[in-house]
Amino acid sequence: EILIETQGITKSYASTTVLSEVSLRIHRGECVVLVGPSGAGKSTALRCMAGLEELQAGSVVFQGETFVTTEGTHRQLRGAVGMVFQQFNLFPHLSVLDNVVLAPRRVKKVPLPEVRRKAEELLDMVGLGNRRGYFPHELSGGQQQRVAIARALAMEPTLMLFDEPTSSLDPEHTREVLRVMKQVIELGMTVAVVTHEMSFARQSADRVIFMDEGRILEDAPTAQFFSAP
Ligand code: ADP
Ligand code: ADP
Repeated sequence: EILIETQGITKSYASTTVLSEVSLRIHRGECVVLVGPSGAGKSTALRCMAGLEELQAGSVVFQGETFVTTEGTHRQLRGAVGMVFQQFNLFPHLSVLDNVVLAPRRVKKVPLPEVRRKAEELLDMVGLGNRRGYFPHELSGGQQQRVAIARALAMEPTLMLFDEPTSSLDPEHTREVLRVMKQVIELGMTVAVVTHEMSFARQSADRVIFMDEGRILEDAPTAQFFSAP
């Protein structure tokens, strides 16, 4: 079952074309890793799937419904997609727990006791149950990123997108974050990841997509992608 599909999407800024007619599919429960040189358009492809970009051509279809066209984006897509960025983007003035509670409380109007219980569960899952009263600046980058993952999961997304989630972390914190990402995959979540961590791709991806200059040059099952040509 195809969960999300980009159909010939083209994205440009002024005269620069960043994505040229990119078509890709992600099936429910799959983990897809996007690789390729810096500037290839990987991050932009994720942002298009999250409904964060306007398109010059093509569309994004999610669960069989068209959510993004050249005309714009339906808001509902953003609610179904959780995104984790390179820079953790936590709210600096809110505690760890409040960072996780905020969106489900405000956007989904879930009652506070229920949101809190869920947030505490998620913080336990990412190994930060004992840090719930801390503020982001009191945490390491790896801990902040794990909070960001918990925060995204708190919205109960159908699809999780990770945009270079470990690129600003040292090796130890990278390992911690990759471990949590593997847990998320084991929950059965559909996941797309932009990363330079090839060992993660080998171990956790079902499929690897190689992009360069705004195009997909290879899209193959992981074993095939890493086998000698
Ligand atoms: P990647 O994730 O593969 O490194 P990106 O999707 O981040 O690639 O960027 C692809 C290209 O698009 C880069 O050349 C980048 O400078 C350009 N780009 C990204 N965002 C913008 C923007 N808001 N305005 C102009 N150019 C942009
Ligand atoms: P990352 O490597 O994490 O994708 P970037 O530095 O490429 O971060 O992009 C950070 C932000 O700047 C994004 O919102 C992106 O769209 C924007 N951006 C990237 N390249 C350009 C550019 N050449 N001109 C304008 N905005 C850009």
